[in-house]
Amino acid sequence: MSRSAIVWFREDLRLHDNPALDHAVQHFDRVIPVYLHTPQQGGHWRAGAASHWWLHHSLKALDADLQQAGAGLLIRQGDSARQLLQALVRETGATSVVWNRLYTPWAVARDIAIKTALTGSGIAVHAFRPSLLFEPEAVLKDNGEPYRVFTAFWKRCQTKSLYQALCDTPSRISSGDLPHGIPIEQLGLLPAIRWDSGFYDHWTPGEQGAYAQAGIFLDEDIADYEHNRDIPASPGTSRLSAHLHFGEISPRALMNRAVQRLDEIGSATARQSVTRFMAELGWREFAAHILYHYPASSDESMDARFAYFPWAADDAAVLQRWQQGRTGIPIIDAGMRELWHSGWMHNRVRMLVASFLTKNLRIHWQHGARWFWDTLVDADLASNSLGWQWVAGCGTDAAPYFRIFNPVLQGKKFDPDGEYVRRWVPELRAFDRKYLHEPWRLAGQCDYPAPMIDLKDSRAQALAAFQSLRR
Ligand SMILES: Cc1cc2nc3c(=O)[nH]c(=O)nc-3n(C[C@H](O)[C@H](O)[C@H](O)COP(=O)(O)OP(=O)(O)OC[C@H]3O[C@@H](n4cnc5c(N)ncnc54)[C@H](O)[C@@H]3O)c2cc1C
Repeated sequence: MSRSAIVWFREDLRLHDNPALDHAVQHFDRVIPVYLHTPQQGGHWRAGAASHWWLHHSLKALDADLQQAGAGLLIRQGDSARQLLQALVRETGATSVVWNRLYTPWAVARDIAIKTALTGSGIAVHAFRPSLLFEPEAVLKDNGEPYRVFTAFWKRCQTKSLYQALCDTPSRISSGDLPHGIPIEQLGLLPAIRWDSGFYDHWTPGEQGAYAQAGIFLDEDIADYEHNRDIPASPGTSRLSAHLHFGEISPRALMNRAVQRLDEIGSATARQSVTRFMAELGWREFAAHILYHYPASSDESMDARFAYFPWAADDAAVLQRWQQGRTGIPIIDAGMRELWHSGWMHNRVRMLVASFLTKNLRIHWQHGARWFWDTLVDADLASNSLGWQWVAGCGTDAAPYFRIFNPVLQGKKFDPDGEYVRRWVPELRAFDRKYLHEPWRLAGQCDYPAPMIDLKDSRAQALAAFQSLRR
């Protein structure tokens, strides 16, 4: 009798280095690749609009790649992944279900429940390595506690082998006739009002797009990463975050190539760049580690004192000016408009807009995290929560609260010619670089808004608010 396995794709939308798929292809006669769309999963952190856009195109790409290998992607939609899987097991006669582990807290709870239900009815469940370099339980302090400080965490990771064996891409997948599924279009992932038109200029979701982007970055741009990664106008970073989030490329594949590059590259500065990139992959690991060990950290400040922080009263109009990039501070508005237009924002600018929101405007970091969640194509609960808490000063290993970015000085330092601001804030295109980051010095010369807040006063008020916590 032929043995069938269901491969449940989740945040691993790839064929290369996909341990669950590899296992199924090696050990079963029939492999049924499945994606289950359960839009309510994740509760109040269910996927946002920009993530849905990416997912639509990524599923299309995966389906095409699977078809090339002789299979195809079976898609079902519903409220409960468990019920959908149980129905598929009945319809296909599958004896096993395989997946790669996820570590977002809601996914951990769901997967445990599904495993219990399936094994209870005689179906074997096998879970494989996640799209992480290390399992969160595998990197702990000597006393068994999780790390809270990145440098110590990353040092520990580096005592393990960063170069890891990868699974091959299956050349042939025998799925037989698949039961009926629904077309990807029917999932309704694309927006009805087409605000996404700008996204197409920036991204090619899917495994091939991921490898093309990784190739450009790791073969060429990485040598200057250490310097260029802070320049928002330059294409100096890898732009792989969304590909990584959806698992279109595994961090192991990226890390292996980075390790090879260290051997190939002679110049000390280029080697420093590669090491820096490896550490950034380390930050992604650290974020997953923190969310797994501190599951409340997506919703609550890790520093308990911040429960008493005097955040500003909710004011929808103020928040909207930030969201829409109409604060009157050029680098902030450029970042927020880049986000809206492309679904992504440069890391340095993410830090600036987050600091402006949580410190100058004193708006709770959760409001910022939620806006990012809906608008980022790389929205990732672990990295987003860590990033916001880090900037707000309330996270583990966070920037000290008193370090409040001055967006004018930061603009002058990291966008000295104003190329980034001009790209995203057309009202300021004609401005001389001398005034570009402080257009209010030439009041009345264009219809760009005046700053919505005094940077110096708001900084002083934020520091006083923080002092009140210390008292
Ligand atoms: C407020 C705030 C919110 C953020 N929200 C997210 C998010 O939702 N999703 C997300 O993937 N990243 C988030 N980041 C981290 C970082 O900004 C992005 O990962 C990075 O800008 C992605 O661009 P890149 O792929 O070109 O990065 P590169 O500089 O090329 O870095 C390579 C990879 O390392 C990882 N990485 C780099 N920096 C970080 C970091 N600080 N934390 C965790 N992983 C990192 C990413 O996977 C990235 O793709 C956030 C940062 C801040 C300050």
